[in-house]
Amino acid sequence: MPKDTSTDNGPVTDGERVALAYRRTMSSGRARLAEVLGGHVEVESSGAWLTTGEGRRFLNVGGYGVFITGARHPRVVREVERQLRKHPIGTRIFLDPAAARAAELLTSVTPPGLNRVHFSGSGTEAVEAAIKLARLNGRHRLVSMTGGYHGKTMGALSVTARETFQRPFRPLLPNVDHVPFGDVPALVKVLSRYPGEVCVIVEPVQGEGGVVIPPPGYLRAVREVCTEFGALLAVDEVQTGLGRLGAWWGCDVEGVSPDILLSGKALGGAVMPVAATIATEETFAVLDRDPILHTSTFSAAPIAMAAVSGAILAIQEDGLIERAAALGARLTPELERIIAAYLPHHPYEVRGAGLLIGIEFADPAMAADLFMALIAHDVVANLSLNSDHVVRLTPPATMTDSDVAFLFDRFEQAARTVAEHNPEYEVLADA
Ligand code: PLP
Repeated sequence: MPKDTSTDNGPVTDGERVALAYRRTMSSGRARLAEVLGGHVEVESSGAWLTTGEGRRFLNVGGYGVFITGARHPRVVREVERQLRKHPIGTRIFLDPAAARAAELLTSVTPPGLNRVHFSGSGTEAVEAAIKLARLNGRHRLVSMTGGYHGKTMGALSVTARETFQRPFRPLLPNVDHVPFGDVPALVKVLSRYPGEVCVIVEPVQGEGGVVIPPPGYLRAVREVCTEFGALLAVDEVQTGLGRLGAWWGCDVEGVSPDILLSGKALGGAVMPVAATIATEETFAVLDRDPILHTSTFSAAPIAMAAVSGAILAIQEDGLIERAAALGARLTPELERIIAAYLPHHPYEVRGAGLLIGIEFADPAMAADLFMALIAHDVVANLSLNSDHVVRLTPPATMTDSDVAFLFDRFEQAARTVAEHNPEYEVLADA
């Protein structure tokens, strides 16, 4: 038996020992993947930085969109520490002031009309609650978008339109259609076939799909046709919400009020895992009448609620919405300039909405190469679950000027490495 991976000071941080424990007790596949990515273990984080067991520091512009406030934002930590010392988990018999405060704060920043919150632990659970709300409102059909990502529990997976993830788990939910993202006539075609029966679930910008930005006015048009054909509209802002797009919500950018809004990732201030399904009073009415119909033990746990309040206050107090917009406008053109300088004749596209930035290559090997080169140069980015062509950056809105300078410098080095690995492009880069 291997010896226990803990000491009085916490878990053992030796990379090989941690990988061994993963192989023996969690997932050997996960351990293999980590080995390919350099075999690092992460043990500490602060702001835009994380530190490995060996003391190496990485700039974190990844984390799948969680870190809009940066890691361990003092406001979030303060709120959570206070709650931890007083009452972290409730009985679920009495009401909880931490939940009341979090829900009030959250609904104070959501689009008009969204004033009922159901909290859960992850984005995929928030989607499950939305699907159940749709059913409670007589919408037994679901329409989602090609390339859309909504999570991997069975209901959410039914609307996560990727064959690789769906195939091993069929049959999934019945009566689900996928239509191309950005294509309003295709949506109308389905909605007009089933008036009053559909719930549409859509992201304002597809994140895991590879930062796919629809034409301006798309979400507004989706709202209009949902209203016209009696469909419920659930906008999944698990990734795009809370400042990621340089606005509180992608819905705000288009002036749209959905029937259901989904939040997660950044909602716990990068301190607690928490998500939310936020609905209009009308949509939520059945759960108002029967609060036991959809529950879970850790829903709205006080410790997670403290993190939600901390996250919203941190975003407000630090002006992170404006900072995300300004930072995005600064990062995306410079990253594009670097790619254009080093890989000028390779088909690519750099696109960004606020701090959701994608670098797409025609050749997925090129995306993987850039991702690995960034790690080699001390930068952690994201791959995209629904697109292997796109390296995605989701930086914190709290990045300092020196963090930004570091990113540009290391991104340039990584782009040069990719050019060197692809000699035909190196020649062009030198030209
Ligand atoms: N919805 C969107 C738009 C997402 O990007 C994700 C995760 O990436 C989810 C839902 C699922 O969230 P989680 O991974 O927390 O279950």
